[in-house]
Amino acid sequence: MAEKLTVEKLAAVKGMNDILPPDSARWEWLEGKVRTLMARYAYRNIRTPILEHTQLFVRGIGEVTDIVEKEMYSFEDRSDKHGDHDHLTMRPENTASVVRAVTEHNMLYEGGKRLYYMGPMFRRERPQRGRYRQFHQIGAEALGYAGAEVDAELILLAVALWTELGLSDWRLEINSLGQPEERAQHRAQLVSHFEQYADLLDEEARRRLHSNPLRILDTKNPAMKAVVESAPRLIDFLGAQSLAHFERLKTILDANDVAWTLNHRLVRGLDYYNLTVFEFVTDRLGAQGTICAGGRYDYLIEQIGGKPAPAVGWALGVERVLELLKEQGDVVATPAPDVYAVISDASALPVASLALQRLRAAGIHVQMHASATTDSMGSMKSQFKKADTSGARFALIFGADELAQGCVAVKPLRLEKNSTAPIQTLQRLDDVVTWADTLRS
Ligand code: ATP
Ligand code: MG
Repeated sequence: MAEKLTVEKLAAVKGMNDILPPDSARWEWLEGKVRTLMARYAYRNIRTPILEHTQLFVRGIGEVTDIVEKEMYSFEDRSDKHGDHDHLTMRPENTASVVRAVTEHNMLYEGGKRLYYMGPMFRRERPQRGRYRQFHQIGAEALGYAGAEVDAELILLAVALWTELGLSDWRLEINSLGQPEERAQHRAQLVSHFEQYADLLDEEARRRLHSNPLRILDTKNPAMKAVVESAPRLIDFLGAQSLAHFERLKTILDANDVAWTLNHRLVRGLDYYNLTVFEFVTDRLGAQGTICAGGRYDYLIEQIGGKPAPAVGWALGVERVLELLKEQGDVVATPAPDVYAVISDASALPVASLALQRLRAAGIHVQMHASATTDSMGSMKSQFKKADTSGARFALIFGADELAQGCVAVKPLRLEKNSTAPIQTLQRLDDVVTWADTLRS
């Protein structure tokens, strides 16, 4: 019983995952692609704290949302010396924090800013495939720009990322939410539509009918499909300016051969979201099919207390993107060192370590044999076995014979079947570096 308790304590928190090698290599690979791509679009990295004042998310996400109503990890901090308690929350998303930082540091003073982030987010949801309590988002935000060309730029950036990653199984859905006045008119009609069919609504929808009716369109309940599909469409309430914004976006997407479909049910149920909203969706991940979601939020900055400025952005779910890549057939190779150093006994270590340091300085990936015990380096046979499973292309052998002659042997480990392994001898330590040059070419 006591033991069981200890084991339970040592397990990760439900819905929170360890990302272990070799899988972590896929994460680094993806992050590397993202960094390169963000630079090509002139988006700069921003890193905000994981903890923020709870109030930031209440204002920045909205009180009548799943996140704020039931998913946040919030706690009261210990009191400081004045006896005040801070109410803190682990960020459930990063947009509110970015807006806070941009406002706090007056970053829009000289014009717009293009920013991107990567990192863990926290939501207390029911864990399942593609849905975790600690999950990771990569997001891009363009603040201070009002035109649809920036909405388009962000969508093109995401499409370029899918291309870089080799991800093909997605589709782009777009919609326009118009402006608050237009939505107010739509909302009135929407509420009377849902009131008329109130008996077809589920409990959550009924609860949201007057607080956040737009969000009902977003339901995942199949029983409500008909009532939602027959609901008045937001697009029919948009004025000329909103429609022109949407048209410009679509024209740019078309010019770039980016296919999109109009999804009238695609909404963000909060007043500070407006105009463009979009999602990248796949059918290959079951219910968790949205891999990236975004839109314009021209009213959020002032909602959080900043000087009004337009903004648009998206966030992708890293776990879902990686899962989709796996579904399509894995493309990321497990990393292997170039060289595994086989070391006959401890007396060879000083010379070996010097040679290996030179190789590493030359950019070669080197794994040095290391023993689990202090009394022996292990047999040559077991070392070669480890060299083989490491995936290295070559074993560098620091053996007794070689050392007596002041040289190092190189054994190729990845030869075609039946071809003989020519063991090369490097005469001097300097030859190791010269040999390394041939490795890189
Ligand atoms: P969903 O409808 O799937 O709950 P959402 O609208 O709550 O998504 P956003 O807040 O827009 O999601 O977050 C952007 C992206 O982050 C989502 O499209 C998804 O890929 C990912 N994401 C959101 N919540 C989770 C989670 N709990 N676990 C893993 N990924 C998530
Ligand atoms: Mg959600």
